[in-house]
Amino acid sequence: MDFGLTDEQREFRALCRRFATEVIRPVAAKHDAEESTPWEVIKAAREWGLEGIDHLQRLASDPDGQFSVIYAEELHWGCAGIALAISGSTLAAAGLASSGTPEQIARWVPECFGTGDDIKLGAYAVTEPQAGSDVKSLRTTARRDGDEWVLNGTKVFITNGGIADVHVVVATVDPALGHRGQASFVVPKRTPGFKQGKKESKLGIRASHTAEVILEDCRIPLDNLLGGMDKLERKLERARSGESSGRASNALATFELTRPVVGASAIGIAQAAYEWTLAYLDNGAVQDPMTDLLDESSTAGRPPLERQGIQQRLADVATEIEAARLLVQRASWMGRNGIPMTGGQGSMSKLKGGDVAMWATRTCMDLVGPIAQTTDSPLEKWFRDAKIYQLFEGTAEIQRLVISRMQAAEYRKRLAEGAGIAAEAMESTNGSEPESAARALENGAGAGTGQRAATVS
Ligand SMILES: Cc1cc2nc3c(=O)[nH]c(=O)nc-3n(C[C@H](O)[C@H](O)[C@H](O)COP(=O)(O)OP(=O)(O)OC[C@H]3O[C@@H](n4cnc5c(N)ncnc54)[C@H](O)[C@@H]3O)c2cc1C
Repeated sequence: MDFGLTDEQREFRALCRRFATEVIRPVAAKHDAEESTPWEVIKAAREWGLEGIDHLQRLASDPDGQFSVIYAEELHWGCAGIALAISGSTLAAAGLASSGTPEQIARWVPECFGTGDDIKLGAYAVTEPQAGSDVKSLRTTARRDGDEWVLNGTKVFITNGGIADVHVVVATVDPALGHRGQASFVVPKRTPGFKQGKKESKLGIRASHTAEVILEDCRIPLDNLLGGMDKLERKLERARSGESSGRASNALATFELTRPVVGASAIGIAQAAYEWTLAYLDNGAVQDPMTDLLDESSTAGRPPLERQGIQQRLADVATEIEAARLLVQRASWMGRNGIPMTGGQGSMSKLKGGDVAMWATRTCMDLVGPIAQTTDSPLEKWFRDAKIYQLFEGTAEIQRLVISRMQAAEYRKRLAEGAGIAAEAMESTNGSEPESAARALENGAGAGTGQRAATVS
């Protein structure tokens, strides 16, 4: 087992860090204050080879799956809002890749990025006023009318909503079938009946555009149904006949693949806060004689970093960041190598990354003191930016539900396998009744841990 990054991964990390330092950070405060889309940084990312289709192919080329999490962490270290403005189109591309035919993917993915100097954006629109975590309750409808689909509904909190060139919209074709009655549609910019609603003014990640998207008798060609008519009809038929599709578990597994990148993004913010706090506490001499007296009088006039109390808390911050990063790196490696994340490893990495970012930025602010409340310190921005990582792409509570359900399913599977093996062994050794032996084992093992599984089902 090798925990070290390869030379190529280290070089890529250095490139991303340089871009974040030289291009993102100098304009981060400005775009945060103005809540403006950083078009010039998106263009620069294209020039540096850090945005667009070629860049996506490069991310996918790493056999260890580390490029994508290195990229997310380093760009978010620069500024989370700008990083999302650069990478938000990949959500739409992922939606196209998971539902589209090869022809649709080839046609629409380039429209989410553009080529050369021509910058285009994509958006992925699922969330509605009444349906975020509860995706099966979507109310946006898609009705077939001759050679067209007619979409009606409102999507909320959509990254790049309204400014994107391509919107991948999830709508219901048959509301009675829940998520199995839904399909994804491509809605190009300037389609009649499609418009941007309210632009959100947000606490954090303010350089990333978030808005409502309104669809009123919005007509799109039949071809814009991702996957095509035949596939949709087969899916609806299976759902109506009550036949299982296996799709729910597929969807869960797909989300597991994308979550490490979100975890890595959150870690980028925590790392930024940690590095800045370390440097700040190492440079400034302690000014307050009263605090000196209460703490360690021998360190009076010396950098706060020499105080044991401060060292203890910074050690915790560093350890938590490192633990979260290891979860992210492992989950990303598993995803790239096709190792099923049946224990919820992807969700664990997102959950831990988001919680660590929130906790670490707050802890750093506590250590730094009042200046952390002001815009003279970047900590207040990182603190604001961190919050969203406990909310979007599945809230922290939803991650916990997924993890506990996947863990319970794993446990029950192992239990059933163990019971089967024991039954076979007893049958071959003393010819006893295999079924009752298996039952006995199941009951015995369940006494200690079965209750835990039951509470999460
Ligand atoms: C800045 C930003 C960008 C976004 N970008 C996009 C985007 O590009 N595309 C898109 O489709 N969406 C996007 N979203 C929406 C985001 O994914 C949802 O807000 C999120 O999934 C939560 O859904 P919700 O808002 O409906 O909250 P709800 O699901 O209503 O949740 C409210 C609270 O209840 C809790 N909760 C819900 N269900 C359970 C449960 N079963 N058990 C325990 N607790 C529960 C949640 O954890 C949360 O704390 C974005 C949101 C924001 C803020």
